[in-house]
Amino acid sequence: TIGADLARTIARFGDREALVEVAGDRRWTYAELGRAVDEVALGLLAKGVRKGDRVGIWAPNCAEWVLVQYATARIGAILVNVNPAYRVHELAYVLQQAGVTVLVSAVAHKTSDYRRMIEQVRADCPALRDVVYIGDRTWGGLLAAGAAVPHTRLAECEKTLTTDDPVNIQYTSGTTGFPKGATLSHHNILNNGYWVAETLGYTEHDRVCLPVPFYHCFGMVMGNLGITSHGACIVIPAPAFEPAATLRAVQDERCTSLYGVPTMFIAELNLPDFADYDLASLRTGIMAGSPCPEEVMKRVVSEMHMAEVSICYGMTETSPVSTQTRRDDDLEHRTATVGRVLPHIEVKVVDPSSGVTVPRGTPGELCTRGYSVMLGYWEDPERTAEVIDRARWMHTGDLAVMNDDGYVRIVGRIKDMIIRGGENVYPREIEEFLYSHPKIADVQVVGVPDEKYGEEIAACVILRDPADTLTRDELARYCRSRLAHYKVPRYLEITDAFPMTVSGKVRKIELRERLAARWG
Ligand code: ATP
Ligand code: MG
Repeated sequence: TIGADLARTIARFGDREALVEVAGDRRWTYAELGRAVDEVALGLLAKGVRKGDRVGIWAPNCAEWVLVQYATARIGAILVNVNPAYRVHELAYVLQQAGVTVLVSAVAHKTSDYRRMIEQVRADCPALRDVVYIGDRTWGGLLAAGAAVPHTRLAECEKTLTTDDPVNIQYTSGTTGFPKGATLSHHNILNNGYWVAETLGYTEHDRVCLPVPFYHCFGMVMGNLGITSHGACIVIPAPAFEPAATLRAVQDERCTSLYGVPTMFIAELNLPDFADYDLASLRTGIMAGSPCPEEVMKRVVSEMHMAEVSICYGMTETSPVSTQTRRDDDLEHRTATVGRVLPHIEVKVVDPSSGVTVPRGTPGELCTRGYSVMLGYWEDPERTAEVIDRARWMHTGDLAVMNDDGYVRIVGRIKDMIIRGGENVYPREIEEFLYSHPKIADVQVVGVPDEKYGEEIAACVILRDPADTLTRDELARYCRSRLAHYKVPRYLEITDAFPMTVSGKVRKIELRERLAARWG
């Protein structure tokens, strides 16, 4: 279990630094982290939380988030990660759907007045007994209540747990629609975090900068669980992603590893004072979550000192990671593919309509199987059955190609594929190409409805220099030199930001609607 694994790390590396919150300059060694987790676990027991109960967490990144993650696992409760960007309607939905009894939140952060929103939905959530706010007297109250509970209760809890017990309901990013709650066991996520960290070669000397949100599997599994399973140190640069704060934390905390979705790395590389940060301590890191442009990967390798940076591919439903590039892969495979399958997981590529495995080199739907496949969507057997088949294969909805050596390339999501005049067009391919344009910092390609061709291709571009201009004709000329004519974008929009999920992904669905309204 996660509690037992943490105890093992504490026994080996008790004196080493485990957790650093840069914003508050707060630090914990593993021994201190263990004690702090126990205090919170006892507090939750005092509040009546029992095995299988759902404890919600709705807060930006902070040290207490980590304490609650391990405390709930320790007593067999199920942590429900609530997206910090939610508003009342979505909050109420998640609290009701998961039957959350105790919610841990922050009073407020930036424009989010969490306390006010919670008060607004409380009447609609009868199961919700208690709310604890990090940093106010209710947090102190939790710890004080726990002080009255005998410590031996924790060992008793541990005895009742099995590794297959659910420990977490993680909601998907909501990139393609309403988020789904994936129920995951100790076995699912602890092993996945462990193998991701193992592939990166983590030891107790690594210090990992995590600007990715904890509410998402990238932060809490590939980050926290992977890090603590190896005795390395979690570094929290800021409550929510800020490029400058991230690089400053890498520099000041001498981080060896940095995580991010592609848009985060792009924002860091584009900081006007990027060259002033000393990133020499970096060795590795992870880029994941959405297509990782080759150009950006190469810049991360050469300009950010991350010679061993890894790409992970996965989804919340599979704990999350299925494939990962390795340190000993050559640069080509490390920047242009999502690597090979992790140990103890299987992958196959099938024809989505027939389900038959396609030959190597042919695109099809990626399916994965193994310890990492979730228990199911929380209380939703129907939707679970839509994605996990009888042989326990998870159908990812992603289109992929596997080469003869087992390296996987993600070509795009089935839902994002553009069919223009009968030709299949993968937005990813055009985006990859456009990243090489000197004026373009970031780009998204979507299909918009078209009477003649069914769909037409629209590109939405963020320029490196906002004062610059880029015309549709200029872009088309550039494309024609290297892309087949039917892949050349018909429409161009210059923007300064894409609609994003909190996990840092572009909400293509929203972008598509916006561009369709303009040109469709
Ligand atoms: P929702 O399922 O709610 O629409 P989502 O699929 O974005 O949202 P996540 O579980 O956070 O939610 O993301 C998993 C998806 O992210 C994968 O199915 C895949 O499309 C994409 N993805 C993750 N890593 C990579 C990667 N390295 N390259 C390309 N795509 C990736
Ligand atoms: Mg998904």
